[in-house]
Amino acid sequence: MSHEGKWALVTGASRGIGRAIALELAKRKFNLLLNFRSNRAAAETVADEIKSLGVDFRFGQFDVTDADAVNTAYQAWSDEGIDISIIVNNAGVAKDASFPAMDQNQWQTVTRTTLDGFFNITQPLIMPMIRLKWGRIINIASVSGVMGNRGQANYSAAKAGLIGATRSLSLEVAKRGITVNAVAPGLIETDMIADAPIDMIKKQIPMRRLGRADEVASLVGYLVSDEAAYITGQTIEINGGLHT
Ligand code: NDP
Repeated sequence: MSHEGKWALVTGASRGIGRAIALELAKRKFNLLLNFRSNRAAAETVADEIKSLGVDFRFGQFDVTDADAVNTAYQAWSDEGIDISIIVNNAGVAKDASFPAMDQNQWQTVTRTTLDGFFNITQPLIMPMIRLKWGRIINIASVSGVMGNRGQANYSAAKAGLIGATRSLSLEVAKRGITVNAVAPGLIETDMIADAPIDMIKKQIPMRRLGRADEVASLVGYLVSDEAAYITGQTIEINGGLHT
C-alpha cells in the first residue's frame, strides 16, 4: 500500500536529529508538520529543504509541554483536513547534573519535555489514528534510558519512562494497524552534545566515532515503512556498539 502524501508530525524538527528525520520522511514523500519551540530561522531552513523535495509542510510552533498550545495547533490542522498518520516524538532536552546537585527545575524540565510531551502530542491523536486504520509512532529515547548515565538521573528517568510508555501503548493499538517503537541513540553529533567531552566519549564507543543524525533518521524511515509492519513495542538501539 502506498502511504505517499500522508502527514507526519515531527516534534523538535528545527535542528539535529528531528531535522534529519523530517528530511528523511520528506524523501519518502510524506507531508510534514514541523514542530519547533523557539528557533524559527532554523525551522524555515528545514522547510526550504522539504519544499525542494516536492512535499507539503506546515509549521507548528509550540512547546510540547503546553497541552493547550498543542491542541490549538491540532485544531487548525484538523480544520484544514489534515489527518496525522505518523508521529515522531523527538523533542527533548538534557540538563545534566550530579544527583546531589540537581535542582527541581532540572528534574522537571527534562522529565516534562519528554513525558508530558509524549502524552500531550500522542494521546489526542490515538483515536483519530485508530480510525485511519494505519499509523506509526516513533519515540526518540536514548542509550541513557536503557543503561543509565552518571549526571543524568533526570534524563535517564524520562527516557526509560518513554520506553515504558512505548511498550504499553504498542500493546493497546497493535491490532489497529499502528506500530509504536522507540529508537535509542547513543552519542549523536548535534547541538545537544556540543559541550560534552567528545574525545573522552569516543574512546568508550566501540566504533570510536559519534553517530550522525542522518543515521538515526534512516532507522526511523525504516520503522515507518511497510517493511517494518511487524515490528512493534521495541526499543532499537543505534549506538556504534555501546552496549549495556
Ligand atoms: P537538539 O538540541 O539539537 O534539538 C532539539 C530540538 O528539540 C530542537 O528542534 C528544539 O526546538 C526542540 N525542542 C526542545 N524542547 C522542546 C519543547 N519543549 N517543545 C518543542 N520543541 C522542543 O537535540 P538532538 O537533535 O540532539 O536531540 C533530539 C532527540 O534525540 C532528543 O529527544 C534527545 O534527547 C535525543 N537524543 C539525542 C542524542 C544525542 O547524542 N544528540 C542521544 C540520544 C538521544 P527549538 O530549537 O526551536 O527550541
